[in-house]
Amino acid sequence: MVLFDWASRTQWLADVQNYASSLLTSKTVRRLQKQRPDCWSDNFDWLQPQDADSLFAELFYDHYSHIRCFHGARPLDVGSYLTDGILGQSSNTIEATFRKVFADLPKESLDRALDEFSDRKSSEQGKLWVLLEEKELVQHCGHYLIQGSEYVMALAASLCRIHRGEDYRLRLRDIGIPTIFEAHVPIDCFPDSQMISLTRSVLSGWGQFVTGNDLGFNSSPCLVLYRDIEPALIAGHTHPARIRDPHFGFSQYSNPKVKCDHCV
Ligand SMILES: [Zn+2]
Repeated sequence: MVLFDWASRTQWLADVQNYASSLLTSKTVRRLQKQRPDCWSDNFDWLQPQDADSLFAELFYDHYSHIRCFHGARPLDVGSYLTDGILGQSSNTIEATFRKVFADLPKESLDRALDEFSDRKSSEQGKLWVLLEEKELVQHCGHYLIQGSEYVMALAASLCRIHRGEDYRLRLRDIGIPTIFEAHVPIDCFPDSQMISLTRSVLSGWGQFVTGNDLGFNSSPCLVLYRDIEPALIAGHTHPARIRDPHFGFSQYSNPKVKCDHCV
């Protein structure tokens, strides 16, 4: 397995120069260092030949076999993830959790909230989102760890309007345990569009490094899978103690559950 690890930026920048040397020749490097163009990830006029980004993607696929990924969640049962894998979004599971957590509210209110999101139910079915940098989940997207899936959060937020009384989103903080799963996912599990986006980011990052012309390239790509991640691909999990809370001005959320029965 040759793992691509976005967080090891120094390493993958050095690797580019090796596995893509047939495309990114020393002559090309000298030209880029002299001209210092803006090395965008959505416009490769700065590189020759015209299809350099596609050629680079092929070299990337030849070199790496897997992508290091992180998935943030607030599972009710960490063990089920380790047994069944990280499953793509299931509206049935989310709906069951929603009905259980808000069982004390009128059924009509719950039905109405679910009806309002029927489009989302079908458009997100089976999808799974991963980030390539663990710290992103703690610093910028902490809501997945603090309150669970965006879908159930949206349902709870909708209830606040349908059945006034409390901020129902806060109830989601009383169930489950904030968890980051690490998985090493084979490249061919990702849709082509996702890998094209990633390899363009890598190539752009390399260009900015070589030219010293920094375009503010630092955010971790978010990739979408249209399939589950099997248990064998899960490399570990953690329960971060401190998480920045996007729903409260990025103040610090202290996680009271930093261990589960499956921690090693
Ligand atoms: Zn654990």
